[in-house]
Amino acid sequence: MPEVPLSDSVAPGELPAELPALLPAAAHQATPDEQAFMRAALEQAQHAWDLGEVPVGAVVVKDGVIIARGYNQPIGKHDPTAHAEIIALRAAAEALGNYRLPGCELYVTLEPCVMCSGAMMHARLARVVYGASDPKTGVCGSVLDLFAHEQLNHHTQSVGGVLADDCGHLLKSFFAARRAAARQSPKPS
Ligand SMILES: [Zn+2]
Repeated sequence: MPEVPLSDSVAPGELPAELPALLPAAAHQATPDEQAFMRAALEQAQHAWDLGEVPVGAVVVKDGVIIARGYNQPIGKHDPTAHAEIIALRAAAEALGNYRLPGCELYVTLEPCVMCSGAMMHARLARVVYGASDPKTGVCGSVLDLFAHEQLNHHTQSVGGVLADDCGHLLKSFFAARRAAARQSPKPS
């Protein structure tokens, strides 16, 4: 289990009162390649944890090769759009010299939010593969399923539940560590 970072970039008051119920997504028989790419996304998520950010990581894959990586860092960057997926999509587009990413897949440890899903559709991403479901902000089937709307989406498939336990465990551990740290450092009177 990773050390609890000493960074105080997340104020205790910002912690969610309850852990989100990180339910496994509908069963998907992940291939060894899919699991390997999700492990690479988990490595990115650990970078976020190390900076005191909620640990979500992503990689973009084209032709079986990782071409871009990203991890969640909205707090440190003072950027509400700095989710792992957005950072990875930007890096992939830069690497390919193309604002569209046909034939690319994005692996992310947590079910994407509406912002990131919209960006994937604009990029004409071929497929998004996620780990843990997010019943609070996930739009690949949890809160709603944007990718199923034919009026919005003609290009991007979504698949969930790849290494869902590992991805969800990292998030649960992060929030548990944060709560423990908050209990040990009461607010100054
Ligand atoms: Zn997002």
